[in-house]
Amino acid sequence: MAERFDVIVVGAGPAGYVAAIRCAQLGMKTACVDKWLDGQGQPALGGTCLNAGCIPSKALLESSEIYEQSLGHYADHGVNIPAVKLDLAAMMARKDKVVAELTQGIAQLFRANGITSCHGHGKLVSSRQVSIDSGDGQERIIEASHIILAPGSSPVAIEAAPLSGDIIVDSTGALNFDKVPKRLGVIGAGIIGLELGSVWRRLGSEVVLLEAQEAFLMMADQQVARDALREFTRQGLDIRLGARVLGSHIKRGKVEVQYEDAAGSHQEKVDRLIVAVGRMPNTDGLFTAETGLALNEWGYIHVDEQCRTNLPGVYAIGDVVRGPMLAHKGSREGVMVAELIAGQEASMDYDLIPSVIYTHPEIAWVGKTEQALKAEDVPYRAGVFPFAANGRARALGETAGFVKILAHAETDRVLGVHVMGPQASELIACATVAMEFGASSEDLALTVFAHPTLSEGLHEAALDVEGAAIHIAKMRRKN
Ligand code: FAD
Ligand code: NAD
Repeated sequence: MAERFDVIVVGAGPAGYVAAIRCAQLGMKTACVDKWLDGQGQPALGGTCLNAGCIPSKALLESSEIYEQSLGHYADHGVNIPAVKLDLAAMMARKDKVVAELTQGIAQLFRANGITSCHGHGKLVSSRQVSIDSGDGQERIIEASHIILAPGSSPVAIEAAPLSGDIIVDSTGALNFDKVPKRLGVIGAGIIGLELGSVWRRLGSEVVLLEAQEAFLMMADQQVARDALREFTRQGLDIRLGARVLGSHIKRGKVEVQYEDAAGSHQEKVDRLIVAVGRMPNTDGLFTAETGLALNEWGYIHVDEQCRTNLPGVYAIGDVVRGPMLAHKGSREGVMVAELIAGQEASMDYDLIPSVIYTHPEIAWVGKTEQALKAEDVPYRAGVFPFAANGRARALGETAGFVKILAHAETDRVLGVHVMGPQASELIACATVAMEFGASSEDLALTVFAHPTLSEGLHEAALDVEGAAIHIAKMRRKN
């Protein structure tokens, strides 16, 4: 007889493990099936995010930032550090330790919540049953009245640059180089390309990014994108836009990449090449054809606004469904679905999911970009405040970037907030809360912010919507 649960979750990434915990909190007997193995071949919970995504990349971004700062920037503060030396093995070991502590933390949370953790590949065989292949030749079936599919996503591969050992790698390989490449190529100047390109540039690589699009960071506000391109170029990232990669081959341990742009054909020789051209949903081997589970035209599992698939009782969440491929988006979907299964009312606002690019300076935004408002013909007013005029940013020595607030021209409701600058990832939370509460730019302008803080930049940008920012004279912008 198949073991029975109230809910089975397939996938223990930030979508699946959060869904499983919330289901258990709500009193449901829950199983979570996951197949991830760590570097030692041991099962590890947390999915891409903890094992090969958000967490290891942020650990390396932090360490590489400290290294770069100590090479010279601390001297500006009157702190001279002689003979700074990079110990890459120690940096990688620290990253692996951070990952291991967090993945073990999920295992502890599963135990504390009484969740049955099943290691192996899960496959939906009916709308009530999942088969588990644990790799030992044995397949077992478990059953539940509700199933949540959260299998995540994998890097997109391109024919022009097939992965090869530790020379042509995807994002996972780029988190594990054992030496700093002298010259590093990156295909795709998207979020992964910029974050991991920044890590290796700070550690000493010459980094060339080949980006197919003519415009930089299409999904970000284009005023931010323009400033960011200038800033990253100043830092030494060689970003080539409109570059179509035609092919690559490995010769004596180096990669030759052929690409063309408006100026013609080019060849670039690099020591390592990262392919970072997007991710695709993991649906291979996830369900049998007999289940009739529907995918959409892009290969994502088809779901409604509340993550219901076409099969009764079967939900899908996280990177495998429409919407941005972000950990917090998947986690929120996980909570929503658990509450729906428990018979509660639950929904989420897909327009208010913040995005962050953890470069230096950081870039963060929530809501609409200026170009989207123009395209949608929405009347708006903009307020902009540069960090160069913010006292705390000056004290930190972090003056690049600005805060920009877009508010509806008639109702004044905040429609979008864009930050490029220090702690943008934290500042965007304040903007997200304000927007969640339906704030107007006047609400933000009337709020008292502590001094001296970076969040005063948000305040001044809100004041600037009315042309009333206090600390800008020359930058004043009338709408
Ligand atoms: P995943 O995290 O991919 O987890 C899915 C899990 O399901 C995996 O463990 C997988 O092995 C397992 N699985 C798949 N199929 C099956 C099956 N059939 N049976 C059993 N198990 C299965 N997002 C952010 O929000 N912030 C960041 O800073 C950030 N940084 C990133 C950096 C990098 C380098 C990368 C690659 C991604 C980053 N992301 C970031 C994106 C983020 O990792 C994903 O959006 C998030 O992990 C998606 O969560 P998920 O639960 O849907 O899927
Ligand atoms: P991305 O969509 O951010 O960027 C991919 C880039 O590659 C795009 O700019 C695209 O135009 C370009 N591209 C595509 N095909 C190309 C080709 N053949 N040649 C040259 N350029 C090409 O994707 P990503 O950077 O791979 O990241 C995947 C996803 O992971 C992101 O969508 C994001 O949701 C998530 N992620 C988030 C964070 C974060 O939240 N900080 C960090 C890393 C990853």
